[in-house]
Amino acid sequence: MRAMRRPQRVLVTGGAGFLGSHLCERLLRDAETEVLCADNYYTGSRGNVAAVLANQRFEVMRHDITFPLYVEVDRIYNLACPASPEHYQYDPVQTVKTCVHGAINVLGLAKRLRAPIVQASTSEVYGDPAVHPQTEDYWGNVNPIGLRACYDEGKRCAETLFFDYHRQHRLTVKVARIFNTYGPRMAMSDGRVVSTFILQALRNEPITVHGDGGQTRSFCYVDDLVDGLIRLMDSADEVIGPINLGSAREVSIGDLAETVVRLTGSKSPIVRGGPRPADDPCRRRPDVTRARETLGWTSSTPLEDGLQRTIDYFDGVLARLPA
Ligand code: UDP
Repeated sequence: MRAMRRPQRVLVTGGAGFLGSHLCERLLRDAETEVLCADNYYTGSRGNVAAVLANQRFEVMRHDITFPLYVEVDRIYNLACPASPEHYQYDPVQTVKTCVHGAINVLGLAKRLRAPIVQASTSEVYGDPAVHPQTEDYWGNVNPIGLRACYDEGKRCAETLFFDYHRQHRLTVKVARIFNTYGPRMAMSDGRVVSTFILQALRNEPITVHGDGGQTRSFCYVDDLVDGLIRLMDSADEVIGPINLGSAREVSIGDLAETVVRLTGSKSPIVRGGPRPADDPCRRRPDVTRARETLGWTSSTPLEDGLQRTIDYFDGVLARLPA
């Protein structure tokens, strides 16, 4: 008789968030995988996981990762943390706790279970980078007492914890440094540039470019990013990172505004010159050599295609809003 294979149980913290919900959906495509999603719904929502709620292999629990979590799983993705400047600066003390206490709690869990764990770290660990494009061995340029520090330093400390658990407890850790990611289910209120510009364009409101729009970012479509996270989890134990995941195409915020206006056919004027947020990085683009060589991964969705899908999503959301 053939031995029954037990399903692979995967915990996704922050599983009802933007990235987390896409990751849960993608993991559930494998019929041998069960997904436990933990979320405190601070920026995530039940709506984000509505499409998979009926799936017998999916379970959601309301849990704040700053408190210990006792569950039995085989693998862990730690995505719990607000990621947009507007959200993480709203309650900065809680942001630090989510990064640091959250990391301690999931690492403790992973240690007891001997489970491999992927950490969603961030390009913000590079701060306002003096090295361009950013390679993983660059130590960064972060203001430790600025408005972004709760997130930047919180995520840096989380990386420290991951590498110390690896060295001290031989834990299989995998640290991804995630660059700007966009797509359907970004929160409408998160103030991030892609969702903000698309909503402004769809409503024919002025597009608010901070500064002269010369600052740059590299935007990765969410499906590509999720693919990178899964490849990282599935990689050999020796692959611990940190590893940049992001788009290699750098665009200025001014060009992004023009592209969004063109794709939506909007009448919105583009208004430049608004104040730049404190410590706003001037340039950001990942060196993705390591991801390509180690994981065989690159971000493949062209910006215009990804933006179009995101525009269609927000169009649908606006159409469903009460008049
Ligand atoms: N930005 C902008 N107008 C907006 C929102 C954002 O010009 O309405 C700029 C912001 O100043 C920054 C870039 O877009 O230079 C990306 O901002 P976002 O908050 O999306 O993410 P960040 O990469 O800064 O975390």
